[in-house]
Amino acid sequence: MTEARKVLLIDDDRLQWRIVEQQLRAVDRAGFVLTCAGTYEEGLKKLTSNGFAACLLDYQLGERDGLQLLREAVAAECRTPIIFLTAESSSAVDIEAMNAGALDYLEKRELTPRALGRALRYALKVGETMEALRRLATRDELTGLLNRREFTRVVREEEERARRFDRSFGLVLIDIDHFKAVNDTHGHAAGDAVLREVARRIRERVRAVDRCARIGGEELAVLLPETDVAGTLAAAEDLLAAVAAAPFEVTGGIRIELTVSAGAASLPVHASETGPLMEAADRALYRAKRAGRARAMLAEHA
Ligand code: GH3
Ligand code: MG
Ligand code: MG
Repeated sequence: MTEARKVLLIDDDRLQWRIVEQQLRAVDRAGFVLTCAGTYEEGLKKLTSNGFAACLLDYQLGERDGLQLLREAVAAECRTPIIFLTAESSSAVDIEAMNAGALDYLEKRELTPRALGRALRYALKVGETMEALRRLATRDELTGLLNRREFTRVVREEEERARRFDRSFGLVLIDIDHFKAVNDTHGHAAGDAVLREVARRIRERVRAVDRCARIGGEELAVLLPETDVAGTLAAAEDLLAAVAAAPFEVTGGIRIELTVSAGAASLPVHASETGPLMEAADRALYRAKRAGRARAMLAEHA
C-alpha cells in the first residue's frame, strides 16, 4: 500500500468532523489520514503549510466565509487541491468557489463514502499532476536546479522584497573553467556528470534560503537573500572552494581537477534592479576569467 495521504478538513461543525471521519474509514483502502481544523485561522495556517495532499473546506465557517479563506490561501501560493463543501445546492457559490481556485465542490447532503473517496482520489491525482508540471516548468532537467526563467522570477520577487523592506541581497554567477576540454577529452556524458556534480556541491554548500539555478550551458547562479556586498563575495569564494575541494570522477575511474570562476554582485550597491544586477555580476565573472580563472570577482560600483 502507498503511504497514508494527509487530508485536511476545515469545518467549524464538529458533527461534520465525525461524519467525514466515518466516511473516510469506509473508503480507507486509499489510506487517508484526517486532520480537522475548527476555525478560520487554524484552517488557513494548516492549509498554507502545504503539508496536506488535499483539503475539504466548508463554506460556512462561523462568522467567516470559506470563500475568503480560499482566496487567502491561493494568494499565499497554497498548492493543496481544495474541495469546497457546501450546505445546500447553490450554483452561485459553487461557481464562485471554482473561480476562486477550488478544484471541485461537494454538497454535504450528497456526501457518501463513495463520492468522498472519488473526489479525494481525483484531488490527489490532480495535485500530483500539477506538481509534476510545476517541476517541469521550473527546474533544469540535468541538475535539478531552478531553470533560468524561474530563477529570474525568483530574483525579481526578491528584488521587490528587498526594496520594500530596505534590504540587500547577493547574486553569484558561476562558470566552469575550461569545460569544453572536459567534453572534448572525456565525452559529453562525462561532461554532463561533471555538471551534475558541480551543481550538487554548490547546492550542498549554500544556506536553505539561498536559491540555485542553471542559467546556461555550464553557467550556474545563486541568489543569496539578506546578504550584503562582503557576504556575497565571501559566499562566492566559499562556493569556489567547495567545487574545487576534491577531484571529479569520470568514466573509467579517471579523476579530473576542475575549477570554476565567479562574479558577485549585491543589490542595492551594484545595481538597483535585477537586470542591471545580473549584468554587473556577468561583467565581474568575465573579469575573473580574464584574470586567470579559479577566482571570484566583485562587481564594480554602479
Ligand atoms: P571558460 O573557462 O572560458 O569558461 O572555457 P569553457 O571551455 O568552459 O567555455 P566555452 O564557453 O568555450 O565552452 C563551454 C562548453 O560547455 C561548450 C559546451 O559544449 C559545453 N556545454 C554546454 N552545455 C552543456 C551540457 O549540458 N552538457 C555538456 N556535457 N556540455 C555542455
Ligand atoms: Mg566555462
Ligand atoms: Mg560559459
